[in-house]
Amino acid sequence: MPSSYLISASILSADFTRLGDQIREAERAGTDWIHVDVMDGHFVPNLSMGPVIVEACRRVTQLPLDVHLMVESPEILLPAFAQAGATNLTVHVETCPHLHHTIQTIHELGCKAGVVLNPSTPAYLVEPILPLVDLVLVLSVNPGYSGQNFLPEVLPKISTLRRELDKINPRAWLEVDGGINAETLPLVRDAGANVFVAAHAIFDYPQGIRSGIRLLRSLLPD
Ligand code: ZN
Repeated sequence: MPSSYLISASILSADFTRLGDQIREAERAGTDWIHVDVMDGHFVPNLSMGPVIVEACRRVTQLPLDVHLMVESPEILLPAFAQAGATNLTVHVETCPHLHHTIQTIHELGCKAGVVLNPSTPAYLVEPILPLVDLVLVLSVNPGYSGQNFLPEVLPKISTLRRELDKINPRAWLEVDGGINAETLPLVRDAGANVFVAAHAIFDYPQGIRSGIRLLRSLLPD
């Protein structure tokens, strides 16, 4: 079983006119990682941010920067994101025909390497790579926008990946991204996830970022 649980605050729902302040506030409130959702308008139907934003995040926090690449041909962009200060570089299995090589490249750039599965992608597609990755990310919404509803159909896949990682690579993080809030976090926690990405539930929380993070943290074991 996981020895600790992390919160990764996705800046996709941050106020970009005050990004630095919002990241500092999330850090003071105890987020463990800052999650950056990179979208290219091809693999997903939205455009978001690139290495320049990662570099800006790096200047305001020492927290790990958890960069989720929802882009086609991510290999092209890996050096730029590594140089910008990314800690984790996570690529979609659906975009990487040479996934083993892509994961090796991320490690050679000095970053932690992760693999992501879309909601409809079965767990077995990443099984061959599990011994080599530092994290596995399960998307629990269809990628592209913040604020979507959690898809409970992904829960059995999280349980499957938890069993596989316990056997093959128990040190790897199992992360969930999409629709995570106080109602859905316990479901993915009980299925075996140990890193929880939240955007709307932190940066749009009605009582503020600090209260949003505290509520999520209260649902996790120490
Ligand atoms: Zn993400």
